Amino acid sequence: MAEQESLEFGKADFVLMDTVTMPEFMANLRLRFEKGRIYTFIGEVVVSVNPYKNLNIYGRDTIEQYRGRELYERPPHLFAIADAAYKAMKRRSKDTCIVISGESGAGKTEASKYIMHYIAAITNPGQRAEVERVKNILLKSNCVLEAFGNAKTNRNDNSSRFGKYMDINFDFKGDPIGGHINNYLLEKKKEGFSFFHSPCLKLLFVQLLQGGSDQMLRSLHLQKDASAYSYISPGAQIKVRVVLCSINDGAEFKAVADAMKVIGFKQEEIQTVYKIVAAILHLGNLKFSVDGDTPVIENSKVVSIIADLLSTKSDMVEKALLFRTVATGRDVIDKQHTEQEATYGRDAFAKAIYERLFAWIVTHINDVIEVKNYDTTVHGKNTVIGVLDIYGFEIFDNNSFEQFCINYCNEKLQQLFIQLVLKQEQEEYQREGIPWKHIDYFNNQVIVDLVEQQHKGIISILDDACMNVGKVTDEMFLEALNNKLGKHAHFSSRKLCATDKTLEFDRDFRIKHYAGDVIYSVTGFIDKNKDTLFQDFKRLMYNSSNPVLKMMWPEGKLSITEVTKRPLTAATLFKNSMIALVDNLASKEPYYVRCIKPNDKKSPQLFDEERCRHQVEYLGLLENVRVRRAGFAYRQTYEKFLHRYKMISEFTWPNHDLPSDKDAVKKLIECHGFQHDVAYGKTKIFIRTPRTLFTLEELHAK
Ligand code: ATP
Ligand code: MG
Repeated sequence: MAEQESLEFGKADFVLMDTVTMPEFMANLRLRFEKGRIYTFIGEVVVSVNPYKNLNIYGRDTIEQYRGRELYERPPHLFAIADAAYKAMKRRSKDTCIVISGESGAGKTEASKYIMHYIAAITNPGQRAEVERVKNILLKSNCVLEAFGNAKTNRNDNSSRFGKYMDINFDFKGDPIGGHINNYLLEKKKEGFSFFHSPCLKLLFVQLLQGGSDQMLRSLHLQKDASAYSYISPGAQIKVRVVLCSINDGAEFKAVADAMKVIGFKQEEIQTVYKIVAAILHLGNLKFSVDGDTPVIENSKVVSIIADLLSTKSDMVEKALLFRTVATGRDVIDKQHTEQEATYGRDAFAKAIYERLFAWIVTHINDVIEVKNYDTTVHGKNTVIGVLDIYGFEIFDNNSFEQFCINYCNEKLQQLFIQLVLKQEQEEYQREGIPWKHIDYFNNQVIVDLVEQQHKGIISILDDACMNVGKVTDEMFLEALNNKLGKHAHFSSRKLCATDKTLEFDRDFRIKHYAGDVIYSVTGFIDKNKDTLFQDFKRLMYNSSNPVLKMMWPEGKLSITEVTKRPLTAATLFKNSMIALVDNLASKEPYYVRCIKPNDKKSPQLFDEERCRHQVEYLGLLENVRVRRAGFAYRQTYEKFLHRYKMISEFTWPNHDLPSDKDAVKKLIECHGFQHDVAYGKTKIFIRTPRTLFTLEELHAK
């Protein structure tokens, strides 16, 4: 258990609580927060409460205190688990991952950055140039990804709108030699706003307008005034101003530009990035109207600017915006859009350009940092530390498709946590024949299945609804849900449960998540899932004379008659990426950081009891403590244990003459008086408290 500081700071490890109850847990969490001790262990899990103020606990001197120490030797800190993951990697050649979870504004991204800095600080003592280069790119990539992927929201001034998983690869010396980033893009937009409105993406656009030189802005046909651009201005001008006050966009713009150079983006590529961003702003200003039956674009000047920025022709841009090529049997015809369709198409196009740009930036970074030509026969195993920073559970007043995906993601991560920490633990004790008091916990697999099961789950039902020909409505989807899931214990809707007053609207359905009930509105599910982008735009971009743009749209190569395969839906793509993510994490030794947001006011003083308790509940922290207390901190096979510690006992050094390794380990443990702190399984020794292990390590080092 963690090194005890003075008790005035509360208990450094929740495992030390007198009784495992919610009031005691909350009292300890509050006390520590109020005393500026934002980190607390649950065994190897770090619980973190966002301090909302700068603490002087991340400097070089603190790094030195944690470097190479055992997890429990120092007070709880992110550095303690970063170091533990690093040691596991270096000493035992284990791939590890650090999973950081918590709700928006709880401090995940900050935590991931501190962890990266710690790893950067303790590696490469030899100052090898190549390792320095990789480290620098890994750190700089954050700055670029944040510029393109973060937004100011009510909950967080710097909210990540993508989940990020970053692998760092290490060579046999333990120095970082490369990495890989996966992003899980998902718009966190609020109901009623189009894609770029409100919280989304302002940071980047405003940065460009504020930070770009006059000459640059002129070449992009932009003016400095953000309110001139409808995607970032209407109804949101106050927010724009807040953004302008709270960050120095001019300076940030330069930092992003520099970071892109360091990462290795070529000048023309950086230029293309700005052109694309500018094109998006201009797209938002296009106005459609109807002339007789025909929709027309009112401001054709803007069309030519867009064509210029995207290296294509005005008439082609105009055609893609106003018509849709459809194949009817053998004929190919140009079908005219209605005004509404044209606007929908324009917004979908802008969104798709942005998403492809983001994906291209990530691919580019990966190209530069990916480990190439690593020869394991020469350099030994290439090991990995993964860091996952992903959005936590979300419950808004209005929950839609985006919250559904985010909350599904959290169900998956909770399931992994259960499997790895709770279930695996119990199963191992059973296997080893060690007496085990059963711990009751809620296994959320049933909810994961409700969402993702083939043919029966919500995503399959949604995809089926989207496949229907003719006009598909959100109501039809809800109807299908009602028919197929009517009996499911974790699903309900107004139709199924008319007396339930919490289900106010006919369009609502409710999922009983492990973290609590969430009511979703079906409005928009079908459109968002189809995420249709008319093929015409793909062809338009593929035919751009800018090679970067062309590369981003490979499927634009297909002609209308060749396009037969339906693209995967948004929900299925997300599901597939979650399954792959969880498989990947499951193959690694996990470390957890559980972030808690103390209040909704971004205040460093306020500990909102109600809000915090809710998070403690849905993060399953009490159950975590219970398992930890019932459990053992350390386990090892008898053979390996002896191999490491046999020199600390005369009975085992250099060899023992006892009937089995198990007997030898027993003898060794008894001669040091640890017998009350261990249990002997069939193949492994289990040690209850880490302190015993430290002492063994100290004896070993003598
Ligand atoms: P989202 O899911 O919206 O991306 P998040 O969990 O990543 O949220 P962060 O961006 O990490 O949240 O944190 C929100 C804000 O809280 C930060 O911008 C910073 O002001 C503050 N904060 C978080 N952690 C710390 C810390 N350790 N020290 C000081 N301030 C912090
Ligand atoms: Mg974040």
